[in-house]
Amino acid sequence: MTTRRKFLKLSALMASLFAFNKTKAIETISKSNGKQIKPVVLSTWKHGLAANEGAWKILSSNGSALDAVEKGVMVTEDDFTNLSVGLGGLPDRDGCVTLDASIMDEKGRCGGVAFLERIKHPISVARLVMEKTAHVLLVGSGAQKFALDNGFKLEPKTLSTEAEKAYKEWLKKSEYKPMINIENHDTIGMIAIDANGNLSGSCTTSGLAYKIHGRVGDSPIIGAGMYVDNEVGAACATGVGETVLRICGSHLVVELMRQGLSPDDACKKAVERLISKNPNYKEVQVGFLALNKNGEHGAYALQKGFNYALYSNEIKNQMFDSKSFLQ
Ligand code: ASP
Repeated sequence: MTTRRKFLKLSALMASLFAFNKTKAIETISKSNGKQIKPVVLSTWKHGLAANEGAWKILSSNGSALDAVEKGVMVTEDDFTNLSVGLGGLPDRDGCVTLDASIMDEKGRCGGVAFLERIKHPISVARLVMEKTAHVLLVGSGAQKFALDNGFKLEPKTLSTEAEKAYKEWLKKSEYKPMINIENHDTIGMIAIDANGNLSGSCTTSGLAYKIHGRVGDSPIIGAGMYVDNEVGAACATGVGETVLRICGSHLVVELMRQGLSPDDACKKAVERLISKNPNYKEVQVGFLALNKNGEHGAYALQKGFNYALYSNEIKNQMFDSKSFLQ
């Protein structure tokens, strides 16, 4: 009994020490008093941990934020077991996996692809659109042709085992309802600041599961799913894209930081705006991440359950729970 009590006491002590360290680490980041904390990378949801590792390899060796946010989310796109990013994602209602992605750098250059099929790394196609064309967004068969013309390989049109199983199950009722926080809408959005103080962002997704064939969400739309202004900061979004599109969510977060709001407050205000424009807000989930020019970060979501991964010199890749409007 005594041993058990001792053990419980020790566990409680360890837990509070851990919580204290975590809070301390966040304080270090958020109370930087204008001191630049860099490099830093943060990304949405649990798959952000592996993606951050990929990004950190570049950031820690003095690489650019642009390379980091591309290489980082490529880790997630590579994972065929991921049901919400890349070719392993859940299909639309016709059984097709269609991918959306966008990227933006410190010079305000940006590129995106939408409704892209059978290409493994939509984020790299988005980067090519940005770097090699006079355009910002390519869609569907045009985006696919552009990818093939630039050396990308056409992948087989097969669903992953798990996606196929889930799709067959869904077909039994064929009911469409975006659900809250379940594994069918978990885009990876990533924002980073490099050692030189430059910001970049990326966003890539298979979009909402069982969407209408042809539906495009917020992720490939610059200013909605992701936005960067190197003078101010960067932001990205996850959740039901239609609600984010209605308020140009990520651009709004950056503009709110420009007006002097902290990254946390900017995300919160954007969620409040989203609520005012989306009467169905109780039924959907949306989460924003923000990073300002000083390397301070913030997050806020509509519903409980949104989390993100952060990697910096002080915080070696940890998950954090976002605050939310609804409890
Ligand atoms: N925002 C994405 C979309 O609407 C989905 C997600 O974040 O999971 O396509």
